[in-house]
Amino acid sequence: MSDLTELASQLRFVLVRTSHPGNIGSAARAMRTMGFTGMTLVAPHRFPHDEASALAAGADDVLENAALHAGLVDGLAGTSLALGLSARRRGVDLEELSPREGVARALAAMARGEKVALVFGNERTGLENEELARCHAMIRIPSVDDFSSLNLSQAVQVMAYEMRIAMLGDQAPAAPVRADAEPPADAAQMERFYEHLAQTLDDIDFHKGRAPTTIMLRLRKLFQRAQMDERELRMLHGIFADAQRMASIARGKSGEQ
Ligand code: SAH
Repeated sequence: MSDLTELASQLRFVLVRTSHPGNIGSAARAMRTMGFTGMTLVAPHRFPHDEASALAAGADDVLENAALHAGLVDGLAGTSLALGLSARRRGVDLEELSPREGVARALAAMARGEKVALVFGNERTGLENEELARCHAMIRIPSVDDFSSLNLSQAVQVMAYEMRIAMLGDQAPAAPVRADAEPPADAAQMERFYEHLAQTLDDIDFHKGRAPTTIMLRLRKLFQRAQMDERELRMLHGIFADAQRMASIARGKSGEQ
């Protein structure tokens, strides 16, 4: 098991009194896409159900392995941190976190080897005060005040995504360095490149009597942005040399110089 998979297995998505089996399936899919498989169902109204399987869209393993419990206390067994998801501030005195703060808190506990629960409420009534009271803090996804309630499985998706982003951020290796990577051009090489470019523009009569200062500044800006490597520089030097050669032939033909 990779480190990330092992860490992900310490998180459980706990769905409480879910009414629509389709939402359970969609939640399973949302979790699975972000690498999470631990689902706990507390007193689901209808489960197992064809609609759950249909909307899981292949994440059947999550549904098959879902833990089923009659009450939230049992549903939280084994976890040491429970974060309740709620669209509205409830009548409970519970610390309110943003999704990112909640994710940071969850990951810190998971890194210590603890099991963490994200608790989601019923579609119509949300989490009851009594259920929130079993949680250590609540997380509110910052939706707009006058339309604050997300679909249950979409709230699951937001949290699964935030968890994954944070986990990837912690674990992502630095940008891979390829063994055959060309070294980037250094400042002195870039200066020689700009001299060659300026000389070439002169040779092909690009400026036509205008002052070259502004155009050279613009070209510098363009090429600096490209952060070229040595091979790319050699290629451009080659193109300039050919352009200079052709310009010199053309000058010879037209009898100049
Ligand atoms: N009318 C209910 C909404 C239930 S939506 C209420 O006001 O609570 C079903 C579940 O999705 C909620 O219980 C909660 O767990 C989650 N959810 C929906 N919108 C959310 C939001 N903006 N922030 C946090 N959780 C949310």
